[in-house]
Amino acid sequence: MNYKRVLIKLSGEGLANKEKSLAIDNELVKKFAEQLKEITNKGIQVAIVVGGGNFWRGTSAEKNGIQRVRADYIGMLATTMNALALQSGFENNNLSCRVLSSLTMDPKVCEVYINEKAKKYLNNGEVVIFAGGTGRPFFTTDTAATLFASEISADAILMGKNNVDGVYDSDPKYNSNAKKFDTITYDELLAKNLKVLDQTAASMAKENNIDIIIFDINEKNALIKAIQNKISNTIITKNRG
Ligand code: UDP
Repeated sequence: MNYKRVLIKLSGEGLANKEKSLAIDNELVKKFAEQLKEITNKGIQVAIVVGGGNFWRGTSAEKNGIQRVRADYIGMLATTMNALALQSGFENNNLSCRVLSSLTMDPKVCEVYINEKAKKYLNNGEVVIFAGGTGRPFFTTDTAATLFASEISADAILMGKNNVDGVYDSDPKYNSNAKKFDTITYDELLAKNLKVLDQTAASMAKENNIDIIIFDINEKNALIKAIQNKISNTIITKNRG
């Protein structure tokens, strides 16, 4: 695979360190920054969609009595906090980085998302972080990842997961005989109702013919290896072969 432009989806929880009670682990961010530097130095353009689950999830907040639309806007703000923290961590490692938000923020905080601007920064070799998800409630950042990958014509989405290296036919945490797929189509994924990403995201990726690569983000140099296809993974595609 010869990628020119990739979109990396980082989950909010993937930034946290539960043992140290840190919502964002700067050591982890540093490791991402070092890898991204190596990747961008090779001329590969990198966009990032970051989640907010380390701070807030709309569906959980709704269960605690906050109306869903408002709870989701809080979730989108959580993704923006993560995006800004990532930007700081990246800049500390001399990696030029822009945050573009789907929610209109004060310009002192970050820039507003405009497609042409995102592509210009990417062409300049800067990392672009998309904050605020899709900017609308009832969506997830997985769907935002497929939306932005489509908008910027990314070659693929790299979706790092926590301690699971791909898509299995049943949950490997509970079933030691669970079988991992090397590749799976969106139709199969949807028909089997496999919960690796939500159905809206899967349908959109299918329609726009974007491959999603699932791998374990906790593996050493996971991002570099994922780009080189040198990591245990599952590739979700529109068509087989
Ligand atoms: N969210 C939203 N619209 C979007 C993306 C996210 O309303 O387009 C909200 C939603 O409440 C979600 C929260 O932001 O629960 C955090 O995003 P997500 O759960 O996808 O984060 P992750 O699980 O990747 O950390």
